[in-house]
Amino acid sequence: MVELLLRGQTLGSVEAVLFDKDGTLSLSEPGLLALSRARLQACLEHVPEASRPQFQNLLERAYGLEVDRLHPAGTTAVASRQHNLISTATAFCQVGLGWPDALAHSEAVFAATDPTTDPGTDREPIDGQGPRPGEASLAPLTEGVKPLLQELHRSGVLLAVISNDDSEGIHRFLAGHGLSGLFREIWSAEMDPPKPDPAAVHGLCSRLGVSPSACALIGDASSDLRMAEGAGVALALGYSAGWSSRPPLPEHLPCLDHWQELRVGR
Ligand SMILES: [Mg+2]
Repeated sequence: MVELLLRGQTLGSVEAVLFDKDGTLSLSEPGLLALSRARLQACLEHVPEASRPQFQNLLERAYGLEVDRLHPAGTTAVASRQHNLISTATAFCQVGLGWPDALAHSEAVFAATDPTTDPGTDREPIDGQGPRPGEASLAPLTEGVKPLLQELHRSGVLLAVISNDDSEGIHRFLAGHGLSGLFREIWSAEMDPPKPDPAAVHGLCSRLGVSPSACALIGDASSDLRMAEGAGVALALGYSAGWSSRPPLPEHLPCLDHWQELRVGR
């Protein structure tokens, strides 16, 4: 067991720390903002022009798309691709489509705008400025997280990712930042059940061979932290610095505003 300190105060001791990815390990907002804009533009082409202003407004609210930022608790920021697809189909229904058509249009839009890692396509960077919207690029790490991960790993703490991204996306992110060797396990959107079901934490803990009561879980969404509490983890910690607007987090739980605030006890 390794003691964790928050701003110098002991939080307790754990054997493992489970990290959310988007908005916690990674600064995901620019990539997700581009993705939600690309989905929105593609959706608009599937409805008559007269419906577009209303449809755009519905989609912006559904996605949590706010001019130049994403709502950190919105569907794009927090939910899986599948939940975003259902929410898109619901917006299609609200402008008059039946469910089968709404679902078919949403699936077509998502297939056309999904991030791709295939360099052999004819996709060109926009104005030569980096990846086009929807193209997979490596989201940067949140500031100061790598030294903390290294310190936890050196101290013998098991590290895992629990995310609504798919396994490929999680592995690409970890490998791209040279973190694969630090993380023992992942739990992705394809695993059963996906988060935020507390059973996702139990499944991940069982892969790690630790009890939830010997784990900390750190996330940027209240759904992460409710899941952690429901699963009986020892420490549920909020992380607030991964988005341009501060995410709403439960006030009764401790919260980190910078990774430097979390340390391993000596
Ligand atoms: Mg997150």
